[in-house]
Amino acid sequence: MKRVAISGAAGFIGSHLCDRLLSEGYAVLGLDNFLTGAKRNIAHLVGVPAFEFRERDVTAPFDVEGSVDFVIHAASPASPRDYLLYPIETLDVGSLGTRRMLELAEKKSAKFLVTSTSESYGDPNVHPQTESYWGNVNPVGLRSCYDESKRFAEALTMAWHRARGLRTSIARIFNTFGPRMKLNDGRVVPAFLDQALQGLPITVFGDGSQTRSFCYVSDLVDGLYRLMLSDEPMPVNLGNPREMTILEFATIITEMTGSKSKVICQPLPEDDPKQRCPDISKALRVLGWQPKVSLEEGLRPTIEYFQGILQSA
Ligand code: UDP
Repeated sequence: MKRVAISGAAGFIGSHLCDRLLSEGYAVLGLDNFLTGAKRNIAHLVGVPAFEFRERDVTAPFDVEGSVDFVIHAASPASPRDYLLYPIETLDVGSLGTRRMLELAEKKSAKFLVTSTSESYGDPNVHPQTESYWGNVNPVGLRSCYDESKRFAEALTMAWHRARGLRTSIARIFNTFGPRMKLNDGRVVPAFLDQALQGLPITVFGDGSQTRSFCYVSDLVDGLYRLMLSDEPMPVNLGNPREMTILEFATIITEMTGSKSKVICQPLPEDDPKQRCPDISKALRVLGWQPKVSLEEGLRPTIEYFQGILQSA
């Protein structure tokens, strides 16, 4: 049985990745310090024989007993609200945390995968974003703690690949949604769903003309799994290329929830990217991957999940 060590295992994407790895027959060692992850996300895995969990801050030295075949570094605050709340922890987990996870991979002769982000492109001048684009990042802006942390994580990973011969892969993850997102993490999907389900005003930032593209979590995890098994060392975009304005997205949310909520405009956060859409031709070519779940199909279980959270609150 192959074994995977994964940081951020109690996070939104990390916990779904644990589920997928277990269903593929891997043993999984989950690591998380619960800074932004939640015990609830992995509660269903307690008692599953192939799943082990250790509460660890991967920015500090740690040991892992036994063999490990794959190391996945998926730990990081990921929503703008969270990384603004924890800017130093965010920079640490992208730098020190990536370093520790690379060391673990080297020690265990394991393949390494880091989850980077479309924020590596900053407020992009190239559209849609291809992996060859170097990005447009404000290195001292409010979002720099996340953007530069992930860019450093990519650089460190490439250095270990080139200088130490480690087998590595880099996923650039675009906006992803689904059950287990935090209701109050400030991201547009949970924010709009929370507001729509409670009949509160839908808070569109700016004039809502900025664009995003939303990928359902099962598709994203499928891309990560394929990348983990691949020999591709250079970054690969993973996301859904159906692009829409945030205003259009607000309409979809009110229609799908049957909400009577009205849209109100609020100030646009600093350095908020104006447009974002992945070019996924590389993922298709290298991994044979493309998303299968439509936005509407993915929103149904997501709405159900948030309804459940609100009812139990
Ligand atoms: N956004 C919004 N209202 C909200 C939360 C977010 O209009 O209550 C906008 C935000 O300004 C951004 C987009 O939705 O343009 C996506 O924001 P999110 O925080 O989900 O992620 P980002 O793509 O910015 O990392």
